[in-house]
Amino acid sequence: GPSVRRGQRHHFLAELSQCLFDFVVQLLPTPEELAIKEDVRKLLERLIRNVEPDSRLLSFGSTANGFALRNSDMDLCCLIDSDRLPPTASEMVVMVADLLERETKFQVKPLPKARIPIIKLTLAPTQGLPYGIACDIGFENRLALENTRLLLSYATLDPTRVRTMVLFLKLWSKRRKINSPYLGTLSSYGYALMVIFFLVHVKHPPVLPNLQVIPPLRPITKEDMHIGEHNIWFFDDTELLKQTWQSANTDGVGELLVDFFKYFSHDFPYNTHVISIRGGLLEKTYKGWYEPDPRAHDLSRDRNRLCIEDPFEISYNVGRTVTKDGLYTIRGEFMRASRIFASRPDRAFLALTQLCE
Ligand code: ATP
Ligand code: MG
Repeated sequence: GPSVRRGQRHHFLAELSQCLFDFVVQLLPTPEELAIKEDVRKLLERLIRNVEPDSRLLSFGSTANGFALRNSDMDLCCLIDSDRLPPTASEMVVMVADLLERETKFQVKPLPKARIPIIKLTLAPTQGLPYGIACDIGFENRLALENTRLLLSYATLDPTRVRTMVLFLKLWSKRRKINSPYLGTLSSYGYALMVIFFLVHVKHPPVLPNLQVIPPLRPITKEDMHIGEHNIWFFDDTELLKQTWQSANTDGVGELLVDFFKYFSHDFPYNTHVISIRGGLLEKTYKGWYEPDPRAHDLSRDRNRLCIEDPFEISYNVGRTVTKDGLYTIRGEFMRASRIFASRPDRAFLALTQLCE
């Protein structure tokens, strides 16, 4: 009868939560890998100080936000704290690339003309470092440091559920080849924002609070709240928050993942709405993000298929890389995942393995 089925379902979801957790633990970087990466950061920082003595080199992206998979690449950002007028990002790219070419064994590729100018570094695999190292260095990208801190704060509030979901989606989207912004699909950052949106705004009761709307405890200046015109405020005292806020949502991570796939297969209104972790479900017309953009030339017509508002640079669509075909493929993968979970009600481990094939 139905109560037996409910019992089975409950058992499946509990098993799925445990399997997900075990699955993700194996994917985490080892302490050795983290130590090597920190050494690389320090070495590069020391070298860059030859060009610009008042600079700091900081980690962002997965190495700093708690969502790193084993052997993932490093994202580094160089900040210059100088009273003099510092060189532009493109100038820094050229100068630093030149230096690293001379002083290190990295293969160096400067991209001074990109939207965000960067240097790409790679180190070929060796015995001690079987996957080599891939690293991007950007300059003065303070917003990226802030959005890294925001993701880290969400991960810290509920490490088990948030980290497990994001890490699993990263792995799954890479294995299923829908994590390639250059080929028409979505970046890891985009998937992480979808997870947080789901946990803050879709689940009732919510799994996470909205950190960007909690008021500061003490008044803070407008300057501290902004980078340029971007409001970067969020409540970052997670230790305090953990003492005073507790989610009323007790769903296991297995159940949350199943619901996530269901929601983004059938319920999320892709044609008309925008995913915003700051503001919830927003309308495309409210943002002025039309699809296809009537003013756009052919190449950018696809820009607003999947709309994900950046948490700080709110005029920026993180999902702009997703083409019509890309979105079709991504939704197809969400549906496939839902189907697998529905058709393997007894075997959580097999469902996960099949999902990531
Ligand atoms: P991976 O392990 O796949 O490299 P990651 O967690 O490092 O995953 P990325 O997608 O590489 O995620 O993003 C790294 C950082 O770069 C993000 O934290 C964000 O600050 C910035 N970033 C990446 N993509 C975008 C984007 N489309 N718009 C704005 N910032 C982005
Ligand atoms: Mg990265």
